[in-house]
Amino acid sequence: MVAGSMAADVTLADAGRSPVVAWRVEDGALVLRFSGSTDERALRCNCGRHHWIVETRHADGRASLAVKCHGCGTTGTVPLAVGPAPLPR
Ligand SMILES: [Zn+2]
Repeated sequence: MVAGSMAADVTLADAGRSPVVAWRVEDGALVLRFSGSTDERALRCNCGRHHWIVETRHADGRASLAVKCHGCGTTGTVPLAVGPAPLPR
């Protein structure tokens, strides 16, 4: 599909295990970077596709991504790491 730089996959189940510190949608694929890692991972559905409808959610000070697979309609939630507010100097 995408040649070259696409990183390793991560499944929806594994994506919930550590907080996501950065994300973007690239050609419809959801690319995630996890806390403590510099690697980017493309979220892969059980059906093998990487294309998701992505919505950000904020509730009770927590942020997450609500995702839905374009292919099979599987839905899931990916927790986002929320950094502490910077202190004024
Ligand atoms: Zn799917």
